[in-house]
Amino acid sequence: MNVGGAPDGNAVLISKNTVEQAMDAAACIACGACVAACKNASAALFTSAKISHLTLLAQGQLERSERVVNMVERHDAEGFGSCSNEGECEAVCPKEISITNIARMNREYFKAMLLSRESGTER
Ligand code: SF4
Repeated sequence: MNVGGAPDGNAVLISKNTVEQAMDAAACIACGACVAACKNASAALFTSAKISHLTLLAQGQLERSERVVNMVERHDAEGFGSCSNEGECEAVCPKEISITNIARMNREYFKAMLLSRESGTER
């Protein structure tokens, strides 16, 4: 059966504001300066930047919930600390990644956990 080709990524309309936010988050170069500067040794800024740039775009919706849960749990399993909103990460980031990405990551994680509880696929 011929099901056609994959849809062209450029054919998906995304608002300029959303694209700007996603591309700002995608600017993270994984240098680790945010982790080094954090008194909790948290990698929340790095992790949230990766989550944000995929979550904001239409192409990242399919695995949105699964992705955020897996990434946050891996962050914790690797021994990184929790974010206590000190802001040192944002101050030292060479790519000026915003701390608002951490708030987005926390919202996404909370929503994903609620969805998994409602659907009975709780971890
Ligand atoms: S300091 Fe900025 S660019 Fe470097 S890993 Fe952290 S968020 Fe990414």
